[in-house]
Amino acid sequence: MKLLIVEDEVKTGEYLKQGLSEAGFIVDLTHNGLDGHHLAMTEYYDLLILDVMLPDVDGWRILKSLRESGKAVPVLFLTARDSVDDRVKGLELGADDYLVKPFVFAELLARVRTLLRRSAGPATELSLSVADLELDLARHRASRDGKRIHLTAKEFALLELLVRRQGEVLPRSLIASQVWDMNFDSDTNVIDVAIRRLRGKIDDNFTLKLIQTVRGMGYMIDIPDEST
Ligand code: CA
Repeated sequence: MKLLIVEDEVKTGEYLKQGLSEAGFIVDLTHNGLDGHHLAMTEYYDLLILDVMLPDVDGWRILKSLRESGKAVPVLFLTARDSVDDRVKGLELGADDYLVKPFVFAELLARVRTLLRRSAGPATELSLSVADLELDLARHRASRDGKRIHLTAKEFALLELLVRRQGEVLPRSLIASQVWDMNFDSDTNVIDVAIRRLRGKIDDNFTLKLIQTVRGMGYMIDIPDEST
């Protein structure tokens, strides 16, 4: 799951980014509204956390652009104001929730999780599987043949993406945009290294290899053809 935080107070932004990263999310953070607006309109995110009061393009303006262009991504507003008018304005513009500063991180995390669950619809799956590989999405755990496999948050995110799109070849650029944050340097072989590590944990000890390299295109997870 990938989130964008737009927060001009540097310390608050860094604090949120760190906390959410530790909770297993991929997080982009920007301190100004202009960049936030650009990222929100052009990149893929599962949820946005927008500060209302930004010196250039404010949170409301970003939300307005999003909704006008038909983007339904959930938005959680952070507001220093506790005025009913502001809250009503935010909700009318299509915000999904808001939090008044100062807030406790645990509350923000709970609201983020609730919004993500809600946006995934009532039939949110609790687990995913390919052959004997299983992902427990709530507990961020993976196992093969019933045996627990220990993964880092990044490895789990990578595996989840592959499993969600089983049978589909995912180009490196798509993997980068969904599993890495915006500071990712596309000139490096970080993705290949991460896939190699993941293979070491997921496939090396098993006869059935699930992670497949499609030369010149990218990576895919699938049950291999018996004929090949
Ligand atoms: Ca602010």
